[in-house]
Amino acid sequence: MAEAVDPIPVAVVGVGKIARDQHLPAIAGEPRMRLAAAVSRNASVDGVPNFVDLETYLAAGPKAAVALCTPPSARLEASLQAIAAGRDLLIEKPPAATLGEIETIRGAAEAAGVVLFATWHSRFAPGVAPAADWLKGRAVERVAITWKEDVRRWHPGQDWVWRPGGFGVFDPGINALSILTEILPGQMHVAAARLEVPENCAMPIGAELAMRGPENVPVSAVFDWRQEGPQTWDIEVVADGRSLKLSHGGGTLEIDGQAVDVGGKSEYPSIYRRFAELIATRQSDVDIAPLRICADAFLLGDRVPVAAFIE
Ligand code: NAP
Repeated sequence: MAEAVDPIPVAVVGVGKIARDQHLPAIAGEPRMRLAAAVSRNASVDGVPNFVDLETYLAAGPKAAVALCTPPSARLEASLQAIAAGRDLLIEKPPAATLGEIETIRGAAEAAGVVLFATWHSRFAPGVAPAADWLKGRAVERVAITWKEDVRRWHPGQDWVWRPGGFGVFDPGINALSILTEILPGQMHVAAARLEVPENCAMPIGAELAMRGPENVPVSAVFDWRQEGPQTWDIEVVADGRSLKLSHGGGTLEIDGQAVDVGGKSEYPSIYRRFAELIATRQSDVDIAPLRICADAFLLGDRVPVAAFIE
């Protein structure tokens, strides 16, 4: 008989939309995890000790791994605090506001011997692994990403997405880039970018990227946060003269127009299963490739002013 293992305690930090929609249910549903505490300035979770800031929690709360569900601009300081306290750490995407920050976080985690899991939830969508398998060894000819959603629906009342370090439309766009870099590993250079920035915001509401992938494969991406009605999260690849299409953010897969059965695995439960495995094997998982593409697009991007964004 398998030996019973105590569940790993986890403290969730930043009880906002994604913590409530995904992290708390995923932890509750994963037998290898248990919620030990919540840390948030303006919100609380029933049934566990609550703390208003990380410093107080780390000093006085129950010892647990830490899941940071705060916006990326708040990631560096909190990550370094958790690592200094010797806590294994899971961070939401984007892993930090800048490449420099995530390198510092990674270095600190390595030096402290704690597990760092920089999550990319879209990589756990059920169509992504079969798509990557199908593409292995095939000659990719081109890739087109269309990622169009309604910011009011997915980020209601969130000012941080529009401020410096908030990523704007790259907050969802980086999900597409995380799938792209998983199914097409290797070189990915931004050749040109057009960033549409509302006149009252610091971050773009729309973006178009022209990239070059492995073997100079052309990769285009269109991100738009103004799409009402049906939402579009598609990646289309032509390889060996055949077509692959991931839709619904990687949730469904078609090859040559025929649906492939990819099962119904959910992203966040898979993330917590992976976190448990990483903790059990004392390994970290940090890939900065999607963040680097965003950074390059911001470096090269032609910023075009567009109409003010009114919530
Ligand atoms: P959110 O609703 O604004 O929640 C984040 C929470 O973090 C806030 O409610 C706030 O809680 C806390 N916080 C700590 N420092 C903060 C700061 N400097 N600015 C703002 N809030 C701060 O945001 P979210 O949508 O959950 O997104 C959080 C992270 O999850 C982001 O990295 C995002 O990309 C990622 N994510 C979001 C979605 C989505 O659909 N929204 C999906 C997947 C991933 P207190 O005020 O109580 O401290």
